[in-house]
Amino acid sequence: MKLKAGLGYDLHRLVPGRRLIIGGVAIPSDRGCLAHSDGDVLVHSLIDALLGAAGAGDIGQRFPDTDPAYEGISSLELLRRVMAEVRAAGLTVVNTDSVLILEKPRLAPYMAAMKANLAPLLGIEADHIGLKAKTAEGLGDIGAGQAVACWTVALLGS
Ligand code: MG
Repeated sequence: MKLKAGLGYDLHRLVPGRRLIIGGVAIPSDRGCLAHSDGDVLVHSLIDALLGAAGAGDIGQRFPDTDPAYEGISSLELLRRVMAEVRAAGLTVVNTDSVLILEKPRLAPYMAAMKANLAPLLGIEADHIGLKAKTAEGLGDIGAGQAVACWTVALLGS
């Protein structure tokens, strides 16, 4: 099998009055992501990792935030479209690994639900999806609860 790795990163501002959607799961929080779509930072970093591995550009080119078609759209739907392209290019996902950086709330209780959303779209078992969450130890904008970030590595095979 020929392997290709991709790296994705995303960050969103956190503001009151928005829902916090991570991995397609609505997480109880007093603030959520400011974004054109649902602001799902995990799925956005995952999409960029997949596109990077596939040599197929990035999420901003595919789904411009100036296009009204993507206003409020579920990022899982964007991932479904990207995976259709990945498969059409003769590639399959081997595994993914993500690190979420968020001061609060704790994400551990929601990770099984996130993996259950992502696994069928990626075409892999839930135990091939790595999810980890860290705080920023109170430092910087993330530490102040004003932002959430995510890094993802994806390995594709052909
Ligand atoms: Mg984003």
